[in-house]
Amino acid sequence: MTRVLVAEDNAVNRELLRELLEMRGYTVVEACDGEGALRMSEQTKPDLLLLDIGMPVLDGFAVVRKIRENPRLATQPVLAVTAYAMQGDREKILNSGFDGYLSKPVNARSLTEELDHLLGKRDDRDAPPHQSHESHPDGKARAAGNRK
Ligand code: MN
Repeated sequence: MTRVLVAEDNAVNRELLRELLEMRGYTVVEACDGEGALRMSEQTKPDLLLLDIGMPVLDGFAVVRKIRENPRLATQPVLAVTAYAMQGDREKILNSGFDGYLSKPVNARSLTEELDHLLGKRDDRDAPPHQSHESHPDGKARAAGNRK
């Protein structure tokens, strides 16, 4: 089971994210502020944290900084969820310890793409290295849909 922690102070947004994630088979745990995001990260060891930037107690930037400083949490993937759409904010986010970001309102396709990107990496480690068709006598058959 892949567990995703949703840290978001707005109950409607939180519920929307929960529904999108559960439809895709993820287990969802929730936090409503920055301190809760840290506490739940420690307690539930999520595979991914979806972290709202604008939150009470500690904002998303403070939370991701504490996560990266904490040896028990440092490698946890963190995806920012933000209403800030300006280019400068995007760069600030990507330079602040986040693994990526989603703009609000979160649409289902971007969410799926980011989750595949961040959580798919883990599966790739066990997969055999990619081989091009040229190096494979049966490459065409595989390309036609005979992949295991
Ligand atoms: Mn918020």
